[in-house]
Amino acid sequence: MVEVEWQRMKAQELRRLAEQNAVVILPIASIEQHGPHLPTMTDTRLGHEVAIRAARKAYPRRPVVVTPVVWSGLSEHHMPFGGTLTISPETFRGLLHDLILALTRQGFRDILISNSHGGNIIALQQICDALSASTPATLVLTTYPIEAAAEVGALLEDQEGMQHACEAETSMMMACEGDLVDDSNLGALASNAGDGHAFLKAGRASYRWRPFTHVTGNGLAGNPARASATKGEALCEVSAEALAALITDPDTWAAPSDLRGDGTGGVAFRPES
Ligand SMILES: [Zn+2]
Repeated sequence: MVEVEWQRMKAQELRRLAEQNAVVILPIASIEQHGPHLPTMTDTRLGHEVAIRAARKAYPRRPVVVTPVVWSGLSEHHMPFGGTLTISPETFRGLLHDLILALTRQGFRDILISNSHGGNIIALQQICDALSASTPATLVLTTYPIEAAAEVGALLEDQEGMQHACEAETSMMMACEGDLVDDSNLGALASNAGDGHAFLKAGRASYRWRPFTHVTGNGLAGNPARASATKGEALCEVSAEALAALITDPDTWAAPSDLRGDGTGGVAFRPES
């Protein structure tokens, strides 16, 4: 099986991958409470699994390397349950800036930021916007249960999509780390907490911060009673397929169109690579 993990390779192998214009997957996750039945590494473990599988699926069409998972994410809303290691948005932004700079200094130009935690999404969009004006790299941001939303939804029985410590995440952890899933009382854990983000809404379309305790007493959103390892394996596969399709689509990495006519603008999008 082809090696795709950055930390398992030698420096010269990574220099060769940069020369081959390999895609770098930079997985970003969290360490946070996932109810009484799943370990706190759930987003980190699943982000790693989906990234590695996606890299192997894409490799025959384009070389891919996966960095270690950045486990430190934005999880303030989970802090009241304990078990959560959150960092500040300023630290998160600085960390992403430095890691992307380390990659571009070595010549990598196509970087897929592969997120596996909902609380990181808005900050990561802002970071992509800010860095894209100053980096020679193309930054693409994806969150696997959203990129693969149709396929993930089709496999679930009680939920329309990924929630939290739910039918989907419990299934995937049964497939990847079965010994760490406490399945002794899954029937009692279902929590009708909406789509996982409804608790942050006010009025018709306004935003208001609330901790996750605002909508769930046990840290879940969704129904883990419907989970199975077989379903989890299928969820890992469709998620990885969606990311592999994203990586191997030339349009993903194409330069921005420039529809300005003569005498219009004149300001560069970003520095020359
Ligand atoms: Zn999760």
